[in-house]
Amino acid sequence: MTFTARFAPSPTGPLHLGHAYSALLAYDLAQAAGGEFLLRIEDIDQSRSRPQWETQIYDDLHWLGLRWPQPVMRQSDRLGQYRQALEALIDLGLVYPCGCKRADIETAAGAPQEGMPQFGPDGRIYPGTCRKRPLSDAGSQDVLRLDMNKAIIASELRTFCETGEAFAGAHPLDANTLLDAVGDIILVRRNMGSSYHLSVVVDDADQNITHVVRGQDLFDATQIHVLLQGLLELPTPVYHHHRLIRDTTGKRLAKRDDARAISLYRQQGASPAEIRAMVGL
Ligand code: GLU
Repeated sequence: MTFTARFAPSPTGPLHLGHAYSALLAYDLAQAAGGEFLLRIEDIDQSRSRPQWETQIYDDLHWLGLRWPQPVMRQSDRLGQYRQALEALIDLGLVYPCGCKRADIETAAGAPQEGMPQFGPDGRIYPGTCRKRPLSDAGSQDVLRLDMNKAIIASELRTFCETGEAFAGAHPLDANTLLDAVGDIILVRRNMGSSYHLSVVVDDADQNITHVVRGQDLFDATQIHVLLQGLLELPTPVYHHHRLIRDTTGKRLAKRDDARAISLYRQQGASPAEIRAMVGL
């Protein structure tokens, strides 16, 4: 069996111990399987991506002992591919424009129903205010959203026709999670030409990624990705969601937690072996 794993950081801040764990784990698994490890720079958000962080990523990963083939895929080079995928979802009638600002969404969401999640992988779950707007109405200030209910029906139909089951496969979808805890995700953000979810699905397929090693924090996002793969007729990789690295108080590390930046440990004289030990490898 072929094994191609990847590490896909966004150059929006320093890599910290959590990233090191994810990258090293993907690398070790690929090595153990006699497979390949790829690097991808997820710089679709050009307003937050910085060349200095990209350089630092290469430097830190090299220092950790990781090697990867060139050229490295960069999302900012791939807007055409994302557009094609978007067109396919538009052809299925699953996309609508939305001009709601954060405050509009908060007001429209109203008081939460007891026991229902308020936040999903993209922040506050969208209440569906613009769902009936036609695509022909889209303006430059709009984002484009996936109509989750329609997307689930389209996916169920397709899978059912192919397999006789509604949600088959190694990563069966949970329609209730997608509707209640995820909602109408953004496919194209303002001034970006795509979104994380759309890009990552297209990129993993184009790089022939067979195994995605990512943190437990992306568990619900993976449901979105499997759904999009079904709709776009792309293969679904095997997903491994690893534990999250936490600080001494038990809080999981965020990108802005510069105190755990690999570069800082390097400056303080830590060795790559010590970083491995810190993350439990
Ligand atoms: N750019 C994402 C991150 O840094 C990639 C995660 C993934 O898709 O596995 O969190």
